Amino acid sequence: MNTYAFSSIRSLKEALNKKALSRKELLTLCYKRFNQYDKILGSALELFDEQSVERSSTGGLLDSIPGIVKDNICQNGRQLTCASKMLQGYKSPYDATVIQRLHAAGALIVGRANMDEFAMGSSTQTSAYKKTCNPWDHSRVPGGSSGGSAAAVAAGLVSWALGSDTGGSVRQPAGFCGIVGMKPTYGLVSRFGLVALSSSLDQIGPLTRTVYDNALVLSAIAGYDSQDSTTHMRASVDYTAPLTGSLPKGFTLGVIDNALEAPGFDPEVYEALHESLRQFEQLGARIKRIKIPVMDYGVSVYFIINRAEAASNLARFDGVRFGYRSEQSQTLNDMYQNSRNQGFGLEVKSRILIGNYVLSVGHADEFYKCAKIVQGHMRQELLKAFHEVDLLFMPTSAAAAFKFGAFDKNSIQMDLQDYFTSPANITGVPTVAVPCGFTSTHLPISFQLMGPDFSEAALYQVAYAYEQATPWHTMHPPLYQE
Ligand code: GLN
Repeated sequence: MNTYAFSSIRSLKEALNKKALSRKELLTLCYKRFNQYDKILGSALELFDEQSVERSSTGGLLDSIPGIVKDNICQNGRQLTCASKMLQGYKSPYDATVIQRLHAAGALIVGRANMDEFAMGSSTQTSAYKKTCNPWDHSRVPGGSSGGSAAAVAAGLVSWALGSDTGGSVRQPAGFCGIVGMKPTYGLVSRFGLVALSSSLDQIGPLTRTVYDNALVLSAIAGYDSQDSTTHMRASVDYTAPLTGSLPKGFTLGVIDNALEAPGFDPEVYEALHESLRQFEQLGARIKRIKIPVMDYGVSVYFIINRAEAASNLARFDGVRFGYRSEQSQTLNDMYQNSRNQGFGLEVKSRILIGNYVLSVGHADEFYKCAKIVQGHMRQELLKAFHEVDLLFMPTSAAAAFKFGAFDKNSIQMDLQDYFTSPANITGVPTVAVPCGFTSTHLPISFQLMGPDFSEAALYQVAYAYEQATPWHTMHPPLYQE
């Protein structure tokens, strides 16, 4: 039975079809692994009662396949906390569109995954509830903010998870945990029922151990939704269809020179990224080096837009309509203040302060408006690059997973985690993070492929060709293989 722990969705579906494995056995195996491992790993904020998770078969794309969903996505009648004390005990009154689609596809959702509070962070350390470890080394973070989702998949507790990505929160934890993470084009996946961090940047994306599985989950959740006016009206796509194992004909991969040759790389990560480029050449890709200097402003632009929108979005948590309410207050104003002061953690409060500052009269021109102008330039320059190359190659992170507390006294270093990931959110384009090796201390390394709007099929095709030519997806954390 345990031979299935690290099986892909693809092979689990085969085993179910051949009746080598029953639906019930698969779900029970998943619970067994959570019970055995998650006390230490800490990936789930809640594991739902097994019986309440069972559903009848739909014959859909993810029929009977257990997975876990980040705790900022509404599931009707389930708790939804965003890993914040502010929402302790709050229950979702409806299903997010992605949850409705997962259910229609037959997926079984076994729990709520830990995350940074309100998705603010890169380590899952800002969760008000628990610590999540990196399955490859328990003294290190799993990345964030979708750290629980990434850890559960990498440790073989589930074969898929959903995360949300506003500045890198699917891709950076996927990279730190050695799995595949996709940030789709803005507007491909509905945000209805996703608790907003920065509404103009947020996208929900899948985390899986293989490229095929990722394409499968995206196929199940993508598409127009009348409940989210930013989704696009497009024909539905089977993203697994282009996965042939070879690159598109005449494929040109662009390398953003100013990203790959930026200072500050861990030498082992740098070497693995260059080795990946050699691998792409062997697969027949033409590599073209280009410069897009404006991309270097990504993290600064992100810092401002993220805080501005977060401050506006989080204004709704006022102790009145939902969430935590401070009981000791004498006046209405006290109640607002105390509820927000006690309900939010430090990172959230700092972002609200900065966000309101950059939007305030007298400062908005200097910060917010300026950031929006640079955002426009970034998108223009990036789209120009796609006239010269098919896709772009980028690092996911400059170094592998860091130790708990490593940046506690250096918040700028933490913010720099978004250096390579935030440009895709700022420009709206899709990007997939793919494992590409290990450090000498056995920590995963990852690169990103970035494409023009709605190029997910091409991203998966190219990522799959690379994956099939390399062994990384077959390697799993030794602590989780009994
Ligand atoms: N690390 C980023 C931040 O803290 C990413 C957050 C996200 O994508 N949700 O803002």
